[in-house]
Amino acid sequence: MKKTKVGIIICHRYHRCAGGKCFRALREREGAFKRYSKDEELEVVGFTSCAGCPGGNIEYSPEEMIKNGAEVIHLATGLIVGYPPCPRIEQFKKFIEVRYKIPVVLGTHPIPEKYHLVHKELATWKSAWWKKLLVDLNDPLEIRKSYD
Ligand code: SF4
Repeated sequence: MKKTKVGIIICHRYHRCAGGKCFRALREREGAFKRYSKDEELEVVGFTSCAGCPGGNIEYSPEEMIKNGAEVIHLATGLIVGYPPCPRIEQFKKFIEVRYKIPVVLGTHPIPEKYHLVHKELATWKSAWWKKLLVDLNDPLEIRKSYD
């Protein structure tokens, strides 16, 4: 069976989070984890926060994850749904991909419906960049509600 090793970096605003939504989405192949087949094994080999604005842990934590076998790094959905969304998310992705030559996926679990509604009203994600990104995280309504 194919196995992929995953590292997850969360927004420090949620640093006490136990990872329930991310791990559930990984198991159920929801949100950004839809990209992996259910026949494929996923193993989380690293889970940490950015260490707080401006994200000092982005510079070094991928190295430890890669040493532990990480083949892809996910920046958690909290970076997208928190208010304001992380202003450095694009920089983080570019930096990790250039520095560590490892793909970075934006998002983990589906966008919870309560965040979806607020950000829709605020038009937070109206740019083409956000719209493209959110395709993966906009699961059907029932699933989004189940992540509230
Ligand atoms: S907003 Fe961005 S830089 Fe600030 S704590 Fe969250 S992920 Fe880190």
